[in-house]
Amino acid sequence: MKKIKIRNPIVEIDGDEMARVMWGWIKEILILPFVDVELIYFDYHIQNRDRTDNQILTEAAEAVKKYRVGAKCAAINPDQQRVEEFGLKKAWKSPNSGTRNQIGGTLFRQPIVFNNIPRLIPGWRRPIVVARHAYGGMYGGRDMTVPGNGAVELRFVPNGNIPLQREIIHEFKGPGAALGIFNTEESVRGFAMSCLNFGLERGYPVYLGTKNTELAHYDGLFKNSFADVYETKFRKDFEAQGIVYEHRMVDDLAAFAVKSEGGFVWACKNYDGDILSDLVAAGFGSLGLMTSMLLTPDGKTVLTEAAHGTVTRHFREHLAGKKTSTNPIATLFAWTRALYYRGLFDDTPKVQRFASALEQACTETVEAGSMTKDLAMLTGSSSWLTTKEFLQAIASVVDNKIAELA
Ligand code: NAP
Ligand code: MG
Repeated sequence: MKKIKIRNPIVEIDGDEMARVMWGWIKEILILPFVDVELIYFDYHIQNRDRTDNQILTEAAEAVKKYRVGAKCAAINPDQQRVEEFGLKKAWKSPNSGTRNQIGGTLFRQPIVFNNIPRLIPGWRRPIVVARHAYGGMYGGRDMTVPGNGAVELRFVPNGNIPLQREIIHEFKGPGAALGIFNTEESVRGFAMSCLNFGLERGYPVYLGTKNTELAHYDGLFKNSFADVYETKFRKDFEAQGIVYEHRMVDDLAAFAVKSEGGFVWACKNYDGDILSDLVAAGFGSLGLMTSMLLTPDGKTVLTEAAHGTVTRHFREHLAGKKTSTNPIATLFAWTRALYYRGLFDDTPKVQRFASALEQACTETVEAGSMTKDLAMLTGSSSWLTTKEFLQAIASVVDNKIAELA
C-alpha cells in the first residue's frame, strides 16, 4: 500500500507515563503505517525537561511557531512529590501552560461525541466547544482587604497628553474587600479572531457571553471588539456557510447551552471559561473523550492535545505488567486534528480526508460496540478491549477506508 505523503513537517511533543505509552502505540498502529511524514520530535519526558533545565519547552514552542502544526502528549506537571519521585532539580513550571504561553492564542476544548455513549446531559448530541480567553480578568487582578471607612477608587494615570480618569468604586462605611481587573484591546481582538476562525473552520456558530449591562466598559470591550472583528473580517464567510456569530447575555447563554443539542463555540471570558470548561467536560461525561487545541488569532498555528493528564494510576498497572484499558481516543484526536490542519495549511485535501477517515474509523469502532473500559462502564457493559486491542480494531476499519481516499 502506498503511504499518503505529508508535504510539511509536524512537530511532535512526547510526554509521560500512560499517555506516553498510548502516544507511541497510536503512532505505530494508526499513523506511521498510513502516512509518510517528517516529525520534528521533542521529548517532554519529565527527566528530559529536568536535564535541559526546561529549555526543551522553548525549543518545542519555537518549532511549533516555525512549522505551525504541533501535536502534544500529556506530560507531568511536577509538584514536590514528583521532584522526589524522579530526583528532579526542582518543581519546574508547567509544561502545558509554559508551552501555550510561548505560542499564544486561544485554547478550545472540544468533546468527542458518540451516539452510543450516554452523556450526563443526554440532550448534548453535538460538541459544545468552550473557548477560554486565557488572559487578564480575575487572573491578572489585584485585590485588597478594605480595613474600614473610606473610598476605593479606580484611577487611570496617563503616560502622555490624555486626561487622568478616576472613578469611585465604593464609599466604604466599614470593612470589606475590593478588586481591580484589566484587559487589553489587543488581546480581546486576538481572542475574537481565534474564536471566529475556529467557528468558520469547523462550521460552528460562535456565541460570546458577557454581562455588558453591568460592565458597559469592561464587558463592552469584549462585545464591541467581537462585533467589529466579525463585521470587518468574518460576516461574509459566515453567511456563505450559513452560520452566525451572536453576542448574548452570559446567563441567557448558560440556560441556552443546557437546553441546546450542542454544536457551537462558546466564547468565554477568562473566569467564565475556567468554570464552564470543567462544567461542559463533566456534562459530556468522559475525560478520555475531551480534546484540546490551541489556535493563534490568525488561525495559522495549532497545537493539539488531549485534555486529560498522564493517567498515572493506569501507568503503574502497566509497569506491573498488567494490560490496561486506558482510553486513547482524545490522544488519537490530537494526532488526527494535527494532520487535518497540516492538510489545510498545505492545501493537500487528501491529508485532510485521511485525518477525517481515521476519526470516522474510531467513531465506527466505538459505535459498533468496541471500546475501552471507561466507555464500556458508561454504557453498562462489562466487556471491553485493552488499549492496544482497541487501536488494532480501529486499524482494521481504517484499512478498508484507505482505498476510498484517492
Ligand atoms: P489524569 O491523568 O487526567 O487522570 C485522572 C483519572 O481520570 C485517571 O486515574 C482515570 O480514572 C481517568 N482518566 C483520565 N484519562 C483517562 C483515559 N484516557 N482513559 C481512561 N481513564 C482516564 O489526571 P491526574 O491523575 O490528576 O494527573 C496525572 C498527571 O498528569 C499529573 O502529573 C498531572 O500534572 C498531569 N496532567 C497533565 C496534563 C497535560 O499534559 N495536559 C493535564 C492534566 C494533568 P480511573 O483511575 O478511575 O480509571
Ligand atoms: Mg478549571
